[in-house]
Amino acid sequence: MSSKYLIHKNNVLKVIYQNENISRKKLHDLLDLRFATITNITKELIEERLIEEIGREKSINKGRPHTLLRIVPNSRFFIGCELEPEKILSLILNFKGEIISKEEVDFGKDIGKEEILNEIVNLIKKMVAKSKIEKNRIFGIGFVDPGIIDIEKGVSIFSTILPQWKNVNTKQYIEEKIGIETFIIGTSQAKVLSERFFGEGKEKDDFIFIEFGEGIGCGIMSKGRIVHGIGGVAGEFGHIQFPERTEVCNCGKKGCLEAIVSIPSIEKKIKEIVGKDLKIKEIKEEFDKGDEKIKEILKEVFELFSISISNLINLLNPGLVILDKNFLFFKNLLNEFLIENIKKHMVYQYDIKFEISKFGEEIGAIGGACLSMSKFLKLDI
Ligand SMILES: [Zn+2]
Repeated sequence: MSSKYLIHKNNVLKVIYQNENISRKKLHDLLDLRFATITNITKELIEERLIEEIGREKSINKGRPHTLLRIVPNSRFFIGCELEPEKILSLILNFKGEIISKEEVDFGKDIGKEEILNEIVNLIKKMVAKSKIEKNRIFGIGFVDPGIIDIEKGVSIFSTILPQWKNVNTKQYIEEKIGIETFIIGTSQAKVLSERFFGEGKEKDDFIFIEFGEGIGCGIMSKGRIVHGIGGVAGEFGHIQFPERTEVCNCGKKGCLEAIVSIPSIEKKIKEIVGKDLKIKEIKEEFDKGDEKIKEILKEVFELFSISISNLINLLNPGLVILDKNFLFFKNLLNEFLIENIKKHMVYQYDIKFEISKFGEEIGAIGGACLSMSKFLKLDI
């Protein structure tokens, strides 16, 4: 088979994936390929069980309606695995973004990098065994790394939140132990990828995802491509600094946004000022009951968060801002304390949209699986 033919074949598969249901006629129109080539390629893809016929399109013009093709959702599977400061979450995704299998494990703070690697490999092996999916139908593993990475070599270089995770040949190790091709990606980049494939950012080319949890970060999608930066850590906006602030950040510096607005930072501040040891859910409840002190603290926190997000908007001009699901803790103050404030600080007023992500804790791992799917389909992302 010529390499040109393989490129055509891949393009056919890609267009079928992107269009969900599509006729051979439409493929012929979109790809500018001979009809005989389209017929051959789709026949092969059906034999490989990658695509299937799913009835006919509704007839608009006279003549016989065309048969529609689609990707078989469970024809191939993709693994995503996210390493967090004390947890690993791994899952298997199909083409439709459905989670077929999921496993997670907590590990203590004191374990070394070799033990973390072992935990990762064991977790993935256990998950694959439980899922009963044959290995040859799993295309790849997208590993989501919490720190600075070398994407090409698949090496984890350094992480501020997991200091022992340093100079690790992650890709090589996982591939050797599991025998499935592995790709690595940064956390924020994985999250923005989840949104692009299966979330609020579907079919959107310019948007940002704002992470709000233990850490603060942002994923950037620009012209349909993820912004990685050279170390895979573009979007570390949790470390924007406010020089007048004294809160100490995990990165060792003072006055970082993350040290002020992350969920643990909010909890810490409320404990210091109000004297109550409250978790984020209880903080919300106290706020709802009308606690003035808590209201004041949250207003200040969200003011700094708004300034930071508006800086990003001024810099990147996105059409959409997707907010982490954790923002729902403060659903009833979001408009007043965050979104209105952001708009106030934007240099140009334009029709920018705000949405709340529908993904939960799986968002990073889903993004890892999407990375693996994008490699399979040879998508430009
Ligand atoms: Zn910092």
